[in-house]
Amino acid sequence: MTLISKMQAVEHDLNHEMILLRRRMLGYTQAQVADSLGVSQGFLSKLEQGLKEIDEPLLDKLCDVLKCRRSFFAHSERIYGAPLSTHPMFRKHASVGQKVLDKLLADVNARIAHFRLMLSGLEIQPDFPLPQYDLDDLPKGAVQAAQYVRRAWQLPDGPIPNLTVLCERAGCLVFACDMSEAKIDGISYRIAGLPPLIFLNKDLPGDRWRFTLAHELGHLVMHAYPNPDMEDQANEFASELLMPEKDIGRDLRNIDLARAGMLKPIWKVSMGALLVRAKRLQKITEGQSTYLWRTMSMLGYRTAEPVELSIPRERTTLVPSVFEHYKGQLEYNEEEISELLGLYPEDVPQLYELTNWKHRLQLVEGRQAAKPLRLA
Ligand SMILES: [Zn+2]
Repeated sequence: MTLISKMQAVEHDLNHEMILLRRRMLGYTQAQVADSLGVSQGFLSKLEQGLKEIDEPLLDKLCDVLKCRRSFFAHSERIYGAPLSTHPMFRKHASVGQKVLDKLLADVNARIAHFRLMLSGLEIQPDFPLPQYDLDDLPKGAVQAAQYVRRAWQLPDGPIPNLTVLCERAGCLVFACDMSEAKIDGISYRIAGLPPLIFLNKDLPGDRWRFTLAHELGHLVMHAYPNPDMEDQANEFASELLMPEKDIGRDLRNIDLARAGMLKPIWKVSMGALLVRAKRLQKITEGQSTYLWRTMSMLGYRTAEPVELSIPRERTTLVPSVFEHYKGQLEYNEEEISELLGLYPEDVPQLYELTNWKHRLQLVEGRQAAKPLRLA
């Protein structure tokens, strides 16, 4: 297997940007890390920019402080900035600081670097295509793009039982990430030489996970370049993909909250999304919509819809299966995979939502503490 020799070759090359990336992943400031290393902040800053070299003892210390292996700093992937489109949630919350966004982007970049390396050892063959459309060619715009995707995937009429698996079967890598602090639901990237990448907030309720995934899929399908209407278009795409007008139209006529609650588990979309859809398709009047939303507010459903109607979140399967492939076909053990990624074995399952991973995160108090922490 060529992967190992490849790692040995790059191990000598330090990618200084990965130092910055790892620091941001952990949410540490330059001053904190410089202090722990016993160097000046100026030195660390230059080190992160590749203007200073590092000797062996300091590199070891850096690994300790940043809780990773040397191989982490050998990933040769470039660093990607914010995606073409960030979910509108982000812009609404100007309160989110740069540090939080930096952390999220560092997390995302680490996954990109990891998968560039891991996928060099295997090939993903999609079961069906992920089309790309130029909206100028589609008279009905985003709605038509969604209809074409349903057709390209030969989906039956009606609700989509599991959108995550569908996207994965179309070759997308879907990652469940820690995004709550950044108040972002999802982001997506198309990067040369890698499958389409979708990163979703792991803490989203199931219905919102699906809608966000459909929204990001819309970006991948329709938006090779940014445009001022891209967020609305992605929402329109998501609505038609998950709730096709011809299938759901009749159900939405004069919808009330009781019916929305009944339809939610069937279509696996939020009551809110159903109301928006009903209004958009003119199945309710402006007045009815206002009244329904006022009632939603009064009942607190705008913040959280009733627990008994919650939709289980779909799990990612392709990312875990890449790890399984390494363990099975390529005969890597967990230690070797961790070395490849440049992480401690106990940090891997959390980053990738792996349930079939023996090394579990230990309760802190030093890394030797005995009680394993159950990962939800
Ligand atoms: Zn978007």
